[in-house]
Amino acid sequence: MRYLILSDIHANWEALQAVRAHVRRKRYDQVVFLGDAVGYGASPNQVLSWLRELGPPPVMVRGNHDRVCAGLDSAEYFNRYARDASAWTLEHLDERNLEYLRALPEGPLGLTDEVAVCHGSSVDEDTYIFSAYDAQLAFDGLPHSIIFFGHTHIPSMFMLRENNGRHTLKVRLLTGRRLVLDLEPESRYLINPGSVGQPRDRDPRAAYAIFDADQRRLYLYRVSYRASAARRRILAAGLPPVLGDRLLYGA
Ligand code: ZN
Repeated sequence: MRYLILSDIHANWEALQAVRAHVRRKRYDQVVFLGDAVGYGASPNQVLSWLRELGPPPVMVRGNHDRVCAGLDSAEYFNRYARDASAWTLEHLDERNLEYLRALPEGPLGLTDEVAVCHGSSVDEDTYIFSAYDAQLAFDGLPHSIIFFGHTHIPSMFMLRENNGRHTLKVRLLTGRRLVLDLEPESRYLINPGSVGQPRDRDPRAAYAIFDADQRRLYLYRVSYRASAARRRILAAGLPPVLGDRLLYGA
């Protein structure tokens, strides 16, 4: 089984289009989405319609922006720009897309006995996994050996190795246009494929992954897209200009 793993699209249609074109000749059986379809970007209806019409339907969990943009939670803990964008999104969503957004399940979700997915962390969809400590809590929260997560928008991997009762936890940032990683059978992994629509690792290219579960092989890709067009759309929508500018720098 091969999974196409997408996270944090954030209503960026241009980035999603580039990823769709890039995977056209790649093999995968199932799309897995780690949350934050909307928020920040100016194309929430296009992104949600695409997810809705995918066949077979994607396995997905909601993100914190999905929850707030759907009107299921207040935006009080968001910064000003995220708050403005969530209000704009809720105002502009079609009825069917709003309904779809409201129905997205909260993670974590088991994909198989081995693999699970979540938005922030296995213990809470709003929690970020940046440090080894955050990762340890996330490992403790689920029995699965491979956990995919999003939310930080940083392609990264935490590897937990257990040797004669001794634990070592390694952190690795996943950079570059194409990366292939073979996962060790005895180790546990937390993996963030990066963000499709709002990368924050100073690489503005859209990020995604394909995971071959049978071979335990992970492919990570970065794809150039017309960030300036996504930015123009954000400006034309009257969203905060900073949300467009940051796309140019991947910040
Ligand atoms: Zn996000």
